[in-house]
Amino acid sequence: MANKSKFQAIKGTRDLLPPETALWNHVEQTAHEVFRTFGFGEIRVPIFEPTELFARSIGEDTDVVGKEMYTFSDRPAPTEGEANGSESSLATRHSPLATSISLRPEATASVCRAYIEHSMQQLPQPVKLYYTGPMFRRERPQKGRYRQFYQIGAEVLGGQDAPAIDAELIEMLMTFFDKLELKGIELDINSIGHNAPNCRPAYVELLRAELTKVKDKLGADSQRRIDTNPLRVLDSKLESEQPIIAKLPHIADHLCPECAAHYAAVKQQLQLRGIIYRENWRLVRGLDYYMRTTFEITAPGLGSQNAVCGGGRYDGLVELLGGPPTKGIGFAIGEDRLILSLQEQARQSEADPERAARAASANSPPATRHSPLLIYIAWMGQNTYATAVRAAKDLRNAGFSVELPPSELKFGKALGQADKLGAKFALILGEDEVTEGLWTLKTLDDGAQIKLPEPALIEHLRKSS
Ligand code: AMP
Repeated sequence: MANKSKFQAIKGTRDLLPPETALWNHVEQTAHEVFRTFGFGEIRVPIFEPTELFARSIGEDTDVVGKEMYTFSDRPAPTEGEANGSESSLATRHSPLATSISLRPEATASVCRAYIEHSMQQLPQPVKLYYTGPMFRRERPQKGRYRQFYQIGAEVLGGQDAPAIDAELIEMLMTFFDKLELKGIELDINSIGHNAPNCRPAYVELLRAELTKVKDKLGADSQRRIDTNPLRVLDSKLESEQPIIAKLPHIADHLCPECAAHYAAVKQQLQLRGIIYRENWRLVRGLDYYMRTTFEITAPGLGSQNAVCGGGRYDGLVELLGGPPTKGIGFAIGEDRLILSLQEQARQSEADPERAARAASANSPPATRHSPLLIYIAWMGQNTYATAVRAAKDLRNAGFSVELPPSELKFGKALGQADKLGAKFALILGEDEVTEGLWTLKTLDDGAQIKLPEPALIEHLRKSS
């Protein structure tokens, strides 16, 4: 239970505790396994980067860069004198030479930076990379929205922009959610064209003109966005704006012929893979660098923050960051929300006996299964301790989870403790057991007891667990 202590986790951050962390590990393990089968390798990028990297890639006008980044100035590198131990003054520590750095609000920019920095364009293309880890955005915290949150993401960089690449990336996502047995997810797709006069910019101007006509009926945010980024008005969830937005022109009707053909081919490629999607013309995504294919996956049980994954194509991004012209497409899954949705699904299964039986199958995530087998070693008498230590070592080597109390407990207390910890078995080691070489194994559920010679113990446990 939460306790008011002097120190508490900062608003919007949280501790992830056992047993829930087992579910996090299961999700990440599933990502490693599924992504590997699609030929992706793991990349680990730094938690902080120069602010400029995010400002340039995500866009200065976006909420993420404009309002939500954790940005601070780093001290300049120590001068020779300071490095040798002489004192640095406050003035030098905060000199204008200090670089501005930011905690990463997302990882696509970092992956593209790494692609350029390590000349990955010289590798066979495309380069397929994935990552997992924390991201930081100063958003208003609520269920499913945190200031430190976790993403699992993947990027395909270089090579062609073949529609099959877009579709296969989405197929990988669907396979991942399927392996996790997450039910009721929905895939939305769209194309937002590209940045040439006969494509998106022409549509944006049309949108701006239409929005200007109804400006006084819009809320303050949307009014501002008419100037800064009219596409973002389509993201609006404001009830009063919905009838107005419904009448706006659709981007699909204003794509250039190449983008229209690409979009049509992506849909065909999805159908080929049996992937069910919904076209959502309002799906424009919040980050500036997207072009052509955009997609989002929503999951049940999350309330208003129901997007578990967002992604899209960003062919110009590597070049924007100083690299060679490079095709690119990627996605980021919100792991916190994915876990919330899995937990909600497990809660509903528990309320429904038929589904509970299915969820108890070996394939279901650990949150819906019993805690791992635990053997509590109830040792009594100082002469038995060395045997108990050896037994714990052997059992753990064999893969069992073992609790060995550090000091001697009376028999009743030891069994009480084993019960509280949820142990399935108590291994009872008293003076008699050790001298006779016959150990007692008690099943805590029903109190049944058997005697076993030491060499037979592991085999017996394997059979009965
Ligand atoms: P984005 O990087 O904005 O495209 O977001 C991709 C996914 O990350 C979203 O669909 C969410 O699932 C998740 N996400 C984004 N921001 C947050 C946040 N503040 N807290 C929790 N999850 C988030």
